[in-house]
Amino acid sequence: MSEKVKKSDQEWRQVLTDEQYHITRMKGTEPPFTGKYNNFKGKGLFRCVSCGAELFSSQAKYDSGSGWPSFYQPVDEASVRLERDTSHGMQRTEVLCERCDAHLGHVFNDGPQPTGLRYCINSAALDFEPKQDE
Ligand code: FE
Repeated sequence: MSEKVKKSDQEWRQVLTDEQYHITRMKGTEPPFTGKYNNFKGKGLFRCVSCGAELFSSQAKYDSGSGWPSFYQPVDEASVRLERDTSHGMQRTEVLCERCDAHLGHVFNDGPQPTGLRYCINSAALDFEPKQDE
């Protein structure tokens, strides 16, 4: 596992756009059907927009109809961290980048096989790297 990436709040504000900062550091959510990767079909790797960690492959991306990029598994279980989230009167499981603690989205139990999971991720938390073999 690579080293943790730690920055002060001010440093994150400097390297992220306002939208990226709002989503990843303030646990925001982009409106559904607005994110740049929602309907995106490119082959490659989705990295953490904050630290560059490899998070999701296009191979595990599917159209959930939710309005957010959806994946049935991360590239590596160890690349993401799950935490219980009881905000907004809901019981959800938050997905964070293990390396830099960026908020990515939430994971739900209504995904397709083989995992049955739906990692519902904000486009603004991701950066895409095209790769033909993904
Ligand atoms: Fe990260």
